[in-house]
Amino acid sequence: MKHVYTLADLRNWGAVTREISPPIRLGVLGNPVRHSLSPQMQNAALRESGIDAQYARFQISAEELREALRLVPQLNFLGLNLTIPHKIAALPSMDQLDATARCIGAINTVMIRDGMLVGFNTDAIGFSRAVQMEFERTLAGLKVLLLGAGGAARAIGMQCMLEKSQKLWIWNRSQERAREFSAKLHEFESSTHVYAVERDDASFYPAIAAANLIVNATSADMHEDDTLLIPPERFTPDQLVYDTIYTPPRTKFLEAAAAAGARSANGLSMLLHQAAASFEIWFDRRAPINVMRAALDCLA
Ligand code: NAP
Repeated sequence: MKHVYTLADLRNWGAVTREISPPIRLGVLGNPVRHSLSPQMQNAALRESGIDAQYARFQISAEELREALRLVPQLNFLGLNLTIPHKIAALPSMDQLDATARCIGAINTVMIRDGMLVGFNTDAIGFSRAVQMEFERTLAGLKVLLLGAGGAARAIGMQCMLEKSQKLWIWNRSQERAREFSAKLHEFESSTHVYAVERDDASFYPAIAAANLIVNATSADMHEDDTLLIPPERFTPDQLVYDTIYTPPRTKFLEAAAAAGARSANGLSMLLHQAAASFEIWFDRRAPINVMRAALDCLA
């Protein structure tokens, strides 16, 4: 099996995969996708569950997405995961959307049945289970400062609404997007108070100080030279700090939080739980979570 497949491979799938057993019937589409850890987790789960299928990576650009999604149902695929930059762009290609995915406006999981593509979002429940695993508590009643307004942030914000967090402050680099996201969340019935905050606004620092849980759902801090989104001296020891990023495992954001004495965790637990939830959608059975976790641990 190749480390990464392409659209050209999908166009010639029969010949490309003739020798491969078990057959590839699941995969993740993304750009970049080379470093995705999903195959390790999902292939461990498939083996453990005795399912005769394998999961692969697909390097698919934004321009190639429509064709890739048109091809996979014809190639006997069971399901897909979608990662950056496809989670929102794939919506129009779906034949059906699960209610949560529709509310969030982004999908990371596709189930393929009878040639139809059904879109789901497991980032939301994955985040919720990750917070429970890392911090032994639910989102209910928490005051949450959420950084970001992209696909991951939308899922996390929606989950805070569903679980009735007390307050939700949203900051995003593009302020207009934070305002739109906040306005969308106001359409849903929930006791959560939602606010869009601006970096140079007097509301940002009070939100940091009041938050019980601070979540980075941006793609910032991937690189050493990125500026910290929260000034390090603003973290406090009683805070929970979650970074959805897991590569590198300790971002500067997490290091600053830990240095201030806050409890902190990276996005590996969210990755694990969103993957387990995808498996459960595809196969309508419990995911072997310990096996999936072990597959991640042995990579760490
Ligand atoms: P996305 O839809 O492309 O959104 C990217 C977000 O990051 C936007 O809010 C964007 O702000 C912001 N951003 C990008 N570069 C920035 C910078 N230099 N400074 C400040 N903000 C910046 O991506 P996504 O799918 O939401 O993913 C966001 C992050 O979540 C990624 O790091 C991804 O790896 C992580 N994630 C983790 C998991 C997991 O299982 N652990 C699952 C999903 C996503 P603008 O709107 O201003 O562009």
